[in-house]
Amino acid sequence: MTIRYIDQLNLKGKRVLIRVDYNVPYDENMRITDDTRITATLPTIQYCLQNEATVILISHLGRPKGKFDPKLSLRPVAGRLSELLKRDVTFIDISIQEDPESVQSEIKSGDIVLLENIRFYPGEEQNDETFGKLLAGFGEVYINDAFATAHRAHASNHAITHYLDQCAAGFLLKNEIEYFKKALLEPEHPLVAVIGGAKISTKLDVLKNIITRVNSIIIGGAMAFTFLRAKGYSVGKSLLEEELIDSAEEILKEAAEKKVEILLPVDVVIASAFDNNASTETVPIDKIPDDMIGLDIGPQSIRLFSESIQKAKTVVWNGPMGAFEMPSFAHGTEEVARAIADTDCLSIIGGGDSVSAVMQSGLDDKMSYISTGGGAFLELLEGKTLPAIAALDK
Ligand code: AMP
Repeated sequence: MTIRYIDQLNLKGKRVLIRVDYNVPYDENMRITDDTRITATLPTIQYCLQNEATVILISHLGRPKGKFDPKLSLRPVAGRLSELLKRDVTFIDISIQEDPESVQSEIKSGDIVLLENIRFYPGEEQNDETFGKLLAGFGEVYINDAFATAHRAHASNHAITHYLDQCAAGFLLKNEIEYFKKALLEPEHPLVAVIGGAKISTKLDVLKNIITRVNSIIIGGAMAFTFLRAKGYSVGKSLLEEELIDSAEEILKEAAEKKVEILLPVDVVIASAFDNNASTETVPIDKIPDDMIGLDIGPQSIRLFSESIQKAKTVVWNGPMGAFEMPSFAHGTEEVARAIADTDCLSIIGGGDSVSAVMQSGLDDKMSYISTGGGAFLELLEGKTLPAIAALDK
């Protein structure tokens, strides 16, 4: 795929439409509680402004399902963006569908404008061509800087590209693509993938794809229990996907054939209930009692996983090693994060929970790259082409 990046286009004096992801959390008073997604787009916006372009920002927020919802207005985002940029940001809440001429006349040369939540219009999620054409009419150049929505083909990241010749990825999307390439397509070996989380069912395609690329796969989290079951261990009341035991067995077989090392936990922290205050114990994996639940990896597993990580030149991580939201079961995930942070390797972390775990342990600065995408990152790991990125390929 050959896609262009924002710094390869001539933006001088142009009206630039930028699809951003300002799907930020609000508190009950519609105050933004985390502005990471806004700050992540500043390099792209500032680059446009340096090039004397007019900036028209398009984003969604939440799931209004094609209807106006005052609680999902992007107005507070315009305010925050204005503070960050130290200049005015015009918020346009006129309906682009009913009154595109008024919207057009609100867009003044050299300004930054933010359009109201694009998911207030049904055409957005339907990837409607007419709606995409309407959106395209507000600009001359299209920049996509919304990686977290790139796995969905919507009008503002897909149909719109059919009506503008000049389309490119912004700096945030460029980083995502470049780091992903370095990590999975042209990696320095050994390449170790750390995969955890609740269910194999959501990671099966990831495992099937990465097995052809990596040297080792570390498997933690609840999904490890289905693999352990496939190897004949009893897993007590731990989360188990019975219907996927065969798939787990096939993956283990394929890994052996391809000489890909699979590391599974050798000990686990078990508890009597899915509860932070439940009594816990650490046992080897062949000693899980029938009435106990495995909720974290144990110290021997941490050592085993850390040794493998320390040998890696590249590490890709998705999914926690245990039920890390509860402090009693966060240790394994924290220690794996520390091992990655302390290893001199290219480290890419993606997926909501692993990213929160890294943030929680304050190790984010020590990682090479933290992806802004959850579903989009997983689909890249699955080897899929993301529709919004493919749409930039002209
Ligand atoms: P995922 O979205 O598939 O990456 O899964 C993340 C979720 O898996 C988190 O909410 C964790 O609490 C959960 N999880 C990880 N390990 C376990 C476990 N051993 N038992 C139950 N839940 C777990």
